[in-house]
Amino acid sequence: MAKELLIIGAGSGGLILSNTVARALSREIRRGEVTVTLLGDRDEYLYQPGLLYVPFDLMRPAELIRKVKELLVPCVTFMHDRATRIDPESRQVQTRSGRTLTYDYLVIATGSELDLEETPGLKEGAHWFYDLPGAIRLREALSRFQGGRVVVALGLPHKCPVAPLEFVFMLDEWARERGIREQMEIIYAFPLNRAHNIQTCADWAQSEFDKRGIQLETFFNLDSVDPVRKEVNSYEGTTLAYDLLVAVPAHKGDAVHADSGLAVQGNWVPTHRHTLKVGTYENIFAIGDATNMPTSKAGSVAHFESEVLAGNLINLLTGGGAPHQYDGKTFCFIEAGMHKATYLSFTYDQPPVPGPPSEAIHWFKQAYNRIHWMNLKGIV
Ligand SMILES: Cc1cc2nc3c(=O)[nH]c(=O)nc-3n(C[C@H](O)[C@H](O)[C@H](O)COP(=O)(O)OP(=O)(O)OC[C@H]3O[C@@H](n4cnc5c(N)ncnc54)[C@H](O)[C@@H]3O)c2cc1C
Repeated sequence: MAKELLIIGAGSGGLILSNTVARALSREIRRGEVTVTLLGDRDEYLYQPGLLYVPFDLMRPAELIRKVKELLVPCVTFMHDRATRIDPESRQVQTRSGRTLTYDYLVIATGSELDLEETPGLKEGAHWFYDLPGAIRLREALSRFQGGRVVVALGLPHKCPVAPLEFVFMLDEWARERGIREQMEIIYAFPLNRAHNIQTCADWAQSEFDKRGIQLETFFNLDSVDPVRKEVNSYEGTTLAYDLLVAVPAHKGDAVHADSGLAVQGNWVPTHRHTLKVGTYENIFAIGDATNMPTSKAGSVAHFESEVLAGNLINLLTGGGAPHQYDGKTFCFIEAGMHKATYLSFTYDQPPVPGPPSEAIHWFKQAYNRIHWMNLKGIV
């Protein structure tokens, strides 16, 4: 009997993991000893970090999308279907189309989704760039924008905690280059007493805010939006009037986690921060945004976790080797405007220290945006 690896979710983590395992075990797969199946509810992959550039017309939607099948090595079996129930006792996954899939090892890589219902009025009154329709709508709004008060407000939790900062720095320079910055106020409303949850990043962001005249509104937890009065309200009782509201909607995990009894608050999957095991199960793992781990919900986290888990799964599927542990490794580029960038690199034990932004790092990020596809294939 072949040993069966089933991965749910054809996003960053699911693709890197299935490609890495399948490439390493291609002989075993050809001999019928191992199967690697990727179950995804979309047959197209969206490069989400590219959404940051769409509102400024710096990347076109078509550049961000590829067919999942084009991104997989041949020995991965892709099933375009949605997991609706996971049963750890019988080691089975039910799908929307009525299939029952079995597994020896299961990986949950279902990502996170925008919870647009969480904040009343947000859908009607706010713009966002965290999904493709939202990013395109914001591009249209910016193309008409001639000045006024822009409020950027954040729901929690959300993926890529630096993307909202990148957005305001880019907005500031976009407005300067169009000659409308003097007619604009930019307010960054953040839930804590600073501009980012990591202190070193917050200190760096504050110095950029000061240079650029961006105002910081602290202790602002996004509560509701009044689209008629054009006001956004916080749980703390603050109301900010806006001409253009750019919100980062709160995120939640996929419904299949709760429907399978595998979720904690927010529908996240309870996952061990080092072994990536789910709950008390020895054969179920989770990676990427779907987990409740104390990491950023970022593509780099999904990538580094995939590398660790791929090594462990290869050992489990072939019967050998000591387990590796994930150490919280995270890497994030940060666009500091239109022409410079910096980056954060950290682990659970080592906090990041952002360096001075440079053009070289900006171009590195631009290059990465173009070769990201190779990364998914496990080549870089
Ligand atoms: C604007 C923006 C900018 C960003 N910038 C960066 C950046 O600069 N650097 C960085 O590291 N990260 C960045 N990110 C975050 C990064 O894109 C995500 O953290 C990353 O994609 C998470 O990978 P994942 O595999 O966990 O989830 P995803 O890539 O979201 O994939 C999850 C997949 O699972 C599928 N799925 C869900 N439920 C089911 C189900 N029940 N059955 C089958 N399939 C299912 C989904 O449809 C999706 O295809 C950014 C994100 C955004 C929105």
